[in-house]
Amino acid sequence: MATKAVSVLITGANRGLGLEMVKQLVEASRDVRKLFACCRDPDGPRAEALQTLAKKHPDVIAVVRLDATDLCSIKQCAQQVGSVVGTGGLNLLINNAAVAVRTTMQETTPEELQHMFSTNVMGPMNIIKEFLPHLRAAAKASGTPGMSSCKAAIVNISSILGSIEGAKESYATYPCFSYRVSKAALNMLTLCASEELKKDEILLSVLHPGWVRTDMGGEEGEIDATESVRGLLGVMASLTEKQNGGFLDWKGRSIPW
Ligand code: NDP
Repeated sequence: MATKAVSVLITGANRGLGLEMVKQLVEASRDVRKLFACCRDPDGPRAEALQTLAKKHPDVIAVVRLDATDLCSIKQCAQQVGSVVGTGGLNLLINNAAVAVRTTMQETTPEELQHMFSTNVMGPMNIIKEFLPHLRAAAKASGTPGMSSCKAAIVNISSILGSIEGAKESYATYPCFSYRVSKAALNMLTLCASEELKKDEILLSVLHPGWVRTDMGGEEGEIDATESVRGLLGVMASLTEKQNGGFLDWKGRSIPW
């Protein structure tokens, strides 16, 4: 099942799960009319695959510059998106871009933790705040009661490694200290924002994509990007107010905070 959102924005859309989301959304969902595929260097070599895809679907895909650590670029992107979507607003915002390192607490430098926070926490917060007017516009334009990803929703791609309850069991095998701390913060950010934005009928959820074979997940990952994204898009399409402020995996199973 693909999402029925009409306008969608994805960060970190030039490779990995972000690029696969763009692919599946344009290929499988006829409902998506505008897809803002954001990356930090649209003209660089790392965006070639995305640009090739965008050329095949010029009416749907707009490649837009957005660096999650650069508030100016976020503001400019929000302005560009606003000029396209107008009063119809933005239905679905997917905060997917992130960085990860596999280091222990004792190996972590303050600079590294700061970099994780700038990208994985401050980035999504600034993006949510700057795109709020467009999400509010979408909620208003929809004219339907309740919450859904085809009305107005924010999906933050987090990780099971951000689960506080799960850390005791998995930390020794997968330390990733600064990444875990940043994803736990992203989870709390999502939960708090979901409380704040309830009155606007904007849904917020945290999704874990599984352990996926991408640059971040590595070759030993359990599933490929195609399978993960198929699952993630299905879960996004099924979200209602029941899942508002929820933490789910790519199969729709609840994950303990
Ligand atoms: P990749 O490392 O393959 O891709 C990361 C993406 O994020 C790239 O497009 C990268 O762009 C972008 N990015 C990094 N920093 C910034 C920034 N400052 N501004 C904008 N974009 C940025 O990761 P995945 O595709 O595997 O991961 C996607 C999401 O899924 C992440 O949130 C990750 O934490 C989560 N996740 C992944 C798992 C896995 O097993 N793969 C497991 C659990 C969660 P660039 O090319 O410019 O670097």
